[in-house]
Amino acid sequence: MTVLASGSKGNATVIAAGETRLLIDAGLSCRELLRRMAAAGEDAESLDAILITHEHVDHVAGLAVLARRLRIPVFLTEPTHRAWARALTPKTTMSYAKWLELRQQEKAGEEGAVLTMEAVAEEEGVDEPVVKADPTALPAVEYFRAGHRFCIGEIDIDPFTIPHDAADPCGFVFHARTESIRMAIATDLGYIPPNVKQALRDVDVLLLESNHDLEMLKDGPYPWSVKQRVLSRVGHLSNAAAAEFLERDYDGGAHTIVLGHLSEQNNLPELARLAAEQAIAGRMSLLGNRLLLACQETPLEPICL
Ligand SMILES: [Zn+2]
Ligand SMILES: [Zn+2]
Repeated sequence: MTVLASGSKGNATVIAAGETRLLIDAGLSCRELLRRMAAAGEDAESLDAILITHEHVDHVAGLAVLARRLRIPVFLTEPTHRAWARALTPKTTMSYAKWLELRQQEKAGEEGAVLTMEAVAEEEGVDEPVVKADPTALPAVEYFRAGHRFCIGEIDIDPFTIPHDAADPCGFVFHARTESIRMAIATDLGYIPPNVKQALRDVDVLLLESNHDLEMLKDGPYPWSVKQRVLSRVGHLSNAAAAEFLERDYDGGAHTIVLGHLSEQNNLPELARLAAEQAIAGRMSLLGNRLLLACQETPLEPICL
């Protein structure tokens, strides 16, 4: 696992096993994703697919451009795909006044006042008419459903539903079949319901959200409505909620725990680390339980098992 970026300004993680290499979320520009992969020693050209957890911009910002550039398929749920496409498609409803105005412009165009795209292409001697690029075009789309395992190359993937204010948000458990190593990603969730606790059992590497410190969020600069959203059951996990999971429900078996999606406004790395360390203090000895913090600006060193 290589965390390229984690936080409210962009998320992306590479998961690789054997010859299979997957990018989970593409929440930075295509250029920045390529730059970070290079910096982390990951070969972007060898990516096999992009998987998307949900359609929020910090998870999809560079999706279409990167997928088209690398010509690789995108795996996501159908509701996530629809919500993503809708967000990128200009609104088709308009007021009557606007419609009339457009009709009049079109008429003027018909009378030769405005050049059509085809006419421009012809004049410039371009063979193909200029086609307006579709921002939602992807080389290939594959749908998965939460609770249903699918596989890509040497990796089995178990997507699980997470409580978050998106169309159909998912976390993932990745299973390197030949190595029997499991890695999980669970960020962007308002709380940890039983299905997520179940999914996170017996993993070797866990990327877990530790989004905000409750006091910092309450006293911080966000407007009241945003604070309510973050704190809600479909918002983000606090340091305290992540720690509560680590203390009560986590089985203690992970080689490495990565705390991620830390808020830059409402958290401090030291606070997130302290909360998690206190929570797993009793069990840090035997199996390692190395604790890392993912950050927004620079990739983490690859975690190799
Ligand atoms: Zn997010
Ligand atoms: Zn989100």
